Amino acid sequence: MYNKEPLNFENFSLRALRLFRPGESAGGMSGEGIFGMKEFSLTPEEKRILLQVAREEIKKNLMGAGEKTALPAGGEIHAPHGAFVKKFPVAPIITTRGCPFNCSFCASKCMWMQKLRFRNPIRVVDEIELLNKQYGVKEFHFEDDNFTANKNHAMKVCQEIIRRNLDIVWACPNGVRIDTLDEQLLRIMKKSGCYLLAFGIETGSQEIADNMNKHLDLSKVPEKLKMVRDAGIETWGFFIIGLPGDNVKTISKTIDFAVSNAFRRAQFCIFTPLPGSEIFSKMENKDYDWDKFNFFNTAYCTSLQEKEIQELHKKAFRKFYLRPSIIFGLIRNLKLRQVKWLLKRAADYKFLKSKK
Ligand code: SF4
Repeated sequence: MYNKEPLNFENFSLRALRLFRPGESAGGMSGEGIFGMKEFSLTPEEKRILLQVAREEIKKNLMGAGEKTALPAGGEIHAPHGAFVKKFPVAPIITTRGCPFNCSFCASKCMWMQKLRFRNPIRVVDEIELLNKQYGVKEFHFEDDNFTANKNHAMKVCQEIIRRNLDIVWACPNGVRIDTLDEQLLRIMKKSGCYLLAFGIETGSQEIADNMNKHLDLSKVPEKLKMVRDAGIETWGFFIIGLPGDNVKTISKTIDFAVSNAFRRAQFCIFTPLPGSEIFSKMENKDYDWDKFNFFNTAYCTSLQEKEIQELHKKAFRKFYLRPSIIFGLIRNLKLRQVKWLLKRAADYKFLKSKK
C-alpha cells in the first residue's frame, strides 16, 4: 500500500505522479476532482497534515496576489488527453479550481470544498501567449473541473485570447457542464479558437442522474448539443457504466442516449467509487482490490455481476463506434502524427484491462 515516509507537499505530489508513466493518461480521466487512486486513501493523521500543508502552499503559490506565471522547465509538453488533437504541440492549462456542484460519484468537493476559485484571465492568457510564441504550442487543453462554470470568467479568457489575436486552437476534453452554455458564450468560445467540448452526461436515466445529485435535466441535452454543433464546435460525451442503482435497463438507456444524440465521440467508463466522493464515504465494506481502480475494471458491483458490467461496457463501445458516420468522422480527423498517440492509448487500455 502507500509508503509511510513523512508526508509533505512534495512527496505527496510525487506519490500521485508515480501512479502514471510519463505522458500517460488514466484512460482519458484526468480531471482533478475525478482523480482517485489507492495512494489517496490516507490515514486521518496524513489527511490532517496534507490539508494543512496544501492550504499553506496554495495560499503562498497558486492563487490570488502571489500568482506566478508557471514556465515549462523544457522538454516535450504532453497533453493528458492526447489521442485526437487538431494541432501539435499541445499543452494543458488550468484557469479555475473546484466546482460548485456536488455529484455524489465525484471527489471534487472533498478536494476543493465545493468552492470555485479563479485565476486572473490576463495571467492565464499570458501563459498561453508565452507557450505559443516561445515554445510553439498551437493547441491548449483547459483541464479545469468545469471551465464554463462561471460565464463571466470564461468570457474574459476568450476575449483576451481574441484581443491578442493569438493563432491557437483549444478544447475542454476534461468536460464542462452542458447546462452552463448559451449561444453568446459559444460564439465567443468558437471565435477564440475552441473546437471541442466534452460533457459529463454520465447516464441516460434521469432517475440515476437525480440519485447521483447530478442536477442535470437530460431532456434539455439534445437542444444544447445542437446549439454547440451549430456554433461549429465538436461534441464528446462521458458516460459511466455500473453506477449505484444501475441495471441492464438503465445501462441500455445510457448506451441509447449516447448513440441517439449528437456526440462525435464518447467515453464509457466503469463506475469506480473514488475516495473522497460521497458514495465512497457511505460504503461500509471498503475492502477493495485497489488495482481495479482504473475506470476499466469493475471495482464495485451492486445488483449486477462483474461479468455483466464488463459485457455492457464492451457493448457500449461497439454500439457507439461501429457506425459508419463515427468511423469516417474519426478517420477524417486523424493525422499521421496522431497514430503514435492512438497506439499508446491502445497499449494503456490493454495494460489497464490486464489488471483483472
Ligand atoms: S459537475 Fe459534478 S462531476 Fe463535474 S466536477 Fe462538478 S461535482 Fe464533479
